Amino acid sequence: MPIATINPATGETEATYDAHDDAEVDARIGEAADAFRALANTDFTARGEWMHRAADLLDAEVDELALVLTTEMGKPLAQAAAEVRKSANAMRYYADHAEDMLAGRALDDPSVVGAGAAYTRYEPLGVVLAVMPWNYPIWQVIRFAAPALMAGNTVLLKHASNVPQSALYLGSLFSRAGFPVGALHTLLIPAARVEAVLRDRRVVAATLTGSEPAGRSLAAIAGSEVKHVVLELGGSDPFIVMPSADLDEAVRTAVTSRTSNNGQACINAKRFIVHEDVHDAFVERFTAAMAALRVGDPLDESTDIGPLATASGRDELAGLVDDAVALGAVAATGGTAGDGPGWFYPPTVLTGVDTGMRLYREEAFGPVATVFTARDADDALRIANDTTFGLSSAVWTRDEAEQERFIRGLDAGAVFVNGMSISYPELPFGGVKDSGIGRELSAEGIREFVNLKSVWRG
Ligand code: NDP
Repeated sequence: MPIATINPATGETEATYDAHDDAEVDARIGEAADAFRALANTDFTARGEWMHRAADLLDAEVDELALVLTTEMGKPLAQAAAEVRKSANAMRYYADHAEDMLAGRALDDPSVVGAGAAYTRYEPLGVVLAVMPWNYPIWQVIRFAAPALMAGNTVLLKHASNVPQSALYLGSLFSRAGFPVGALHTLLIPAARVEAVLRDRRVVAATLTGSEPAGRSLAAIAGSEVKHVVLELGGSDPFIVMPSADLDEAVRTAVTSRTSNNGQACINAKRFIVHEDVHDAFVERFTAAMAALRVGDPLDESTDIGPLATASGRDELAGLVDDAVALGAVAATGGTAGDGPGWFYPPTVLTGVDTGMRLYREEAFGPVATVFTARDADDALRIANDTTFGLSSAVWTRDEAEQERFIRGLDAGAVFVNGMSISYPELPFGGVKDSGIGRELSAEGIREFVNLKSVWRG
């Protein structure tokens, strides 16, 4: 894949970039290692001030940056601006809370370990490689980088090849705010050159958000190097609707949860599992609401859904739908890719999807919803958990006992009751099963890339 901005709404190449050569990559790893040593002489107050300054830069530059995001990956402009602001807020959150989150713990009675004093302390690890996707070009990076930098680590960013302008912006943001040069360095390299960076002795750990094959590959290399890794690999989240749910609210939320970010978020609801008593009413209202969405130019304020980010992503999604329809699924709306310029795909609702279809098992990365009928709560749980993914989930019911049952029974990193999956700086984020390893955000996120050191004093 070229390292280039190719506008998904037009298919036009707007800017191309040469990959960094080996000497440049080596120099940047060296600068990141130097910046790590420089950060070791700073405290939380200094890093917090720089982090606040970087957040202020994001807010001040939100309009230009949102335009870059929309041009590079096609999300509606208002959603791009919201992503930038959300990122700034997460930076402030870590600037203000990192010190408390990384406070050590002392044993009340150190004599039980034969010591005069015994305690723990968190120390930064070093240079961490971040392999990041295009779907939230700023947020995905910041939710890792803000805690990593506040902990005192430095970051090498290998961003997706289709968002180089976002990558270069992030590469200068933190040094402009006061962090040492190299605290967050961008590497303009293709995926094939990630291995050499990860095997470099100066790189101590890695994180990846993206597809399962990419995650498996990175984790295998990290394993062979005995380096810590965090993976966030997407999901096929269930959205369960039971008879006691507020159906209008559930439908409204279902539409947003399936189609935000043009349907290309790991925590978009993808499989709608509806109790048979309300199934037909849900499908009717959901289909009408999906069909009413406006697909078009993501720079136009009235647009709900822009193009998919890449031609290959659009073809992959169309392939999943075509396979399902050929095997008997029914498209209540949508189901056919547009043929104009740009990689548009219409909001689609499919019923009759069964286990023989690829769509039953694979993640639909675009505005395609599958609706299943459940006989009862057990059946809803069975369908919801019949997936290799386990990122997040949502359940709509006003019955408290039923809520408890779903909270316990859903195999996922999160459960949202009468709401939709969203990431918040205050809540840990991550999955089980093939959705990933480890957690981002909250205190757990900042503690992923630290050395928890035990201290025993005689
Ligand atoms: P990829 O996983 O291919 O890309 C994500 C990042 O990983 C990019 O920086 C990419 O670099 C890099 N990468 C790809 N392969 C490797 C590898 N073998 N070793 C190291 N790094 C690698 O995602 P795609 O863009 O191809 O999207 C495909 C699917 O991935 C989507 O349909 C969706 O299912 C899932 N996905 C999930 C996301 C999430 O939020 N969890 C985000 C994006 C995608 P490069 O761009 O240079 O190839």
